Amino acid sequence: MRFDLKSFQFVDTGVAPDALAVAAADRNLTWAQLRSEAVAWADEARGNGAAPDVPVAIYGHKEASFFVAMVGALLIGAPFVPVDTIYPAERLRRIVEIVRAAAVYDAASGTFSAGEGAELAERGLAYVMFTSGSTGDPKGVQIGRESVGLLGDWMLGSFGLGDAPVFMNQAPFSFDLSMYEVFATLASGGACVLNAREQIAAAGTWMPRLAGHGVTVWVSTPSFAHQQLANRDFSPATLPALRTFLFCGEPLPSALAKKLRQRFPGAVILNTYGPTEATVATTWIEVTDAVLAAHDPLPVGHAKPDSVLIVDEGEICIVGDHVMRGYLNRPDLNEAKLYTYADGRRAFRTGDLGQMEAGGLLFCRGRMDDQIKLNGYRIELAEIDEALHGLPGVEGGACAVLRRPDGTAVRLIGFVAGAGDASEDARFLAPDALAGWKERLAQRLPPYMVPSELVACPTLPMSNNHKIDRKKLVEIYAGIPA
Ligand code: AMP
Repeated sequence: MRFDLKSFQFVDTGVAPDALAVAAADRNLTWAQLRSEAVAWADEARGNGAAPDVPVAIYGHKEASFFVAMVGALLIGAPFVPVDTIYPAERLRRIVEIVRAAAVYDAASGTFSAGEGAELAERGLAYVMFTSGSTGDPKGVQIGRESVGLLGDWMLGSFGLGDAPVFMNQAPFSFDLSMYEVFATLASGGACVLNAREQIAAAGTWMPRLAGHGVTVWVSTPSFAHQQLANRDFSPATLPALRTFLFCGEPLPSALAKKLRQRFPGAVILNTYGPTEATVATTWIEVTDAVLAAHDPLPVGHAKPDSVLIVDEGEICIVGDHVMRGYLNRPDLNEAKLYTYADGRRAFRTGDLGQMEAGGLLFCRGRMDDQIKLNGYRIELAEIDEALHGLPGVEGGACAVLRRPDGTAVRLIGFVAGAGDASEDARFLAPDALAGWKERLAQRLPPYMVPSELVACPTLPMSNNHKIDRKKLVEIYAGIPA
């Protein structure tokens, strides 16, 4: 059995109904169970206000019911809004308010709580994915049903995943990387092994669990795979069925690719690139020994078949029906980032610097703005600035990024101005000043966006164009006496 991403229905329902569809943190589902639970969920969701083009938020972390709810929403035509429990309650509340969801489905308890419920102006969306926004609020990326159909076609047609692939899923469902596994599982009739944070942390049992389900495709950010190298069970001996590494979300360091080639000589490594705004990914390349010998840094590959790539004054622009329908209620941003290409299709200015070689091989050269990736998480620094500014008694807030020599972001440092007794020199906050700042920020921001230290300055340094001078902040930090 599988789920067709054009008709959004279960098809081939008589074929292997007892095959595994979802292995979740709490329970497993066969395809027959996934189907009957998704149909039942859709009925219940309708009773709670979900309807075509009326979104429903799904809140949880890797429960089987989270997966069921996403499929149920696709059956109804209600755009789903995935929110992982890594997001604090305040962020969930804001997201539900912005999207005017009919209901919030709590996947852990299996219950609905009512929301406002309004039809979206955009018709036929599959999901709305919220990413960090530079105004201080997360922004909703609206992905059409046509876009996920194209994603499924591309993955099954180009990635060589074999029949009934079994995916390792760990990225939170509020991160669009995870949509790779969701839609490829549905389109192929394969299986998705969902891994909760606690399961991953139990290193001794986690890899054997993946082996037990016969995982064939590993999907993660490079950072996540890098962390696993320390685990000796992360090997072909423990994971004999694993034949593909599918990476996306941040640069793939060639050193990591080389280590994986050594440890898993029989596996294919795919580097893929793309923003949430273009439905998970747009380019791909198999990182072979020849590619590793020819390039460092690695290329991000060629455009997928239904997409056109342009590098316009250094900026990567993506054209195709997999480009989002726009940010929800953000005409200002849509005006700046979206345009119509010569062939009439949607086009998106990514904000990524790119370089294209003859033959269309693309290299990503970093960002043009203040968006960063920290351990694979996408962060707009301005959103953290806003949250810092919201601390009591603070006149201004800004965030700086500490990086490794290769440019990888490793830590966030918060700066506040006007916080009480900050002297002429920047200094670490006294323990009693702004006590509880981390907890306050964590009410609004997910943990990966909370700076690890806070520094008080009399004023925040500005650059010539009246923007926060983040380089200067890093210098201030480096100059703080030990
Ligand atoms: P997200 O929307 O979270 O997928 O983040 C998208 C951004 O991550 C892109 O605009 C790039 O800046 C970066 N990114 C994603 N994949 C890659 C990759 N393979 N190599 C380099 N940067 C990447």
